[in-house]
Amino acid sequence: MATVAKDFSIEEKLVAVLSLQKIDSKIDELQTLKGELPMEVKDLEDDVEGLQTRINNVDAEITTINDYITSRKDAKQEAEALIAKYEKQQDNVKNSREFEAITKEIEMQNLEMRLCDKNVKDALVELQERETVKNQNLSLIEAKKEMLAQKQEELEKIIKETEKEESALAERSEAAKEKVDARLFGAYERIRQSYKNGLAVVPVLRDSCGGCFNIIPPQRQTEIMQRKKIIVCEHCGRILVDIDLNDSVQSA
Ligand SMILES: [Zn+2]
Repeated sequence: MATVAKDFSIEEKLVAVLSLQKIDSKIDELQTLKGELPMEVKDLEDDVEGLQTRINNVDAEITTINDYITSRKDAKQEAEALIAKYEKQQDNVKNSREFEAITKEIEMQNLEMRLCDKNVKDALVELQERETVKNQNLSLIEAKKEMLAQKQEELEKIIKETEKEESALAERSEAAKEKVDARLFGAYERIRQSYKNGLAVVPVLRDSCGGCFNIIPPQRQTEIMQRKKIIVCEHCGRILVDIDLNDSVQSA
C-alpha cells in the first residue's frame, strides 16, 4: 500500500507542476501577444511625429519664400514708380547732360525690374519644389496615421479581451501553485526564470527533450514513462514528462 501511495504521489506531483506550467505558459502567450503591439504603436507614433516636424519645417520654408516673393514684387513696383517719375522729369530737363543722367537712372531701374522678375521666377520654382515635398510628406503622414489608428485599436481590443482571461489565469496559477510540492516548486521557479520561453516542465518529443531537443536515451525514457521518479533533462535541467501525461493535462 505504501509503495502504491508513493508512486501515485510522484505522478500527482508531476501532474500538479505540469498543470501550473500550462497555466503559466498561457499567461506568457498573452504577454507575448501584447508585447509587440505597444512597440509597434510607439514606432508609428515616432514616425508621425517625425513627419509632422518635417512638414512644419517645409511650411516655414514656404512662408519664407512667399515673403521673399512679396518683397521682390514690391521692389519691382518701386522701380516702376521711379521710372514714371524720372520720365516726367525728362520732360522738364534744362540740358542734355541732365537728360542723360536721368536716362541712366531709368536704365538702372529697368535692370532692377528685370532682376526682380528673375528673382520671383526662381523663387516660384523653389516654391513648387517645397510644395511637392510637403505633399509627399502629407500623404506619408496620412498613411502612418491610418496604420497607427489600426494598431491602437488592435492593442486596445487585445487589452480588453485579455484583461479578464489574464486575471482568471493568474488566479488559477495561484491555486495550481498551492498543489505543487514545495521543493518541486522551487526547482520549477528556478528553471522557468532561466529560460526565455519560461518552460520548466517539458514533454519528451520524438525521443528528445521538448525544451532543448537533445536526445533522451531509451532507458531514461522508460523511467520517465513509469512516473516513479522526477527526472530532469541532463542537458538543460528541465523537468521531463511523458507525452501521454503531457496531453492529459490541459491549460484551460
Ligand atoms: Zn533538455
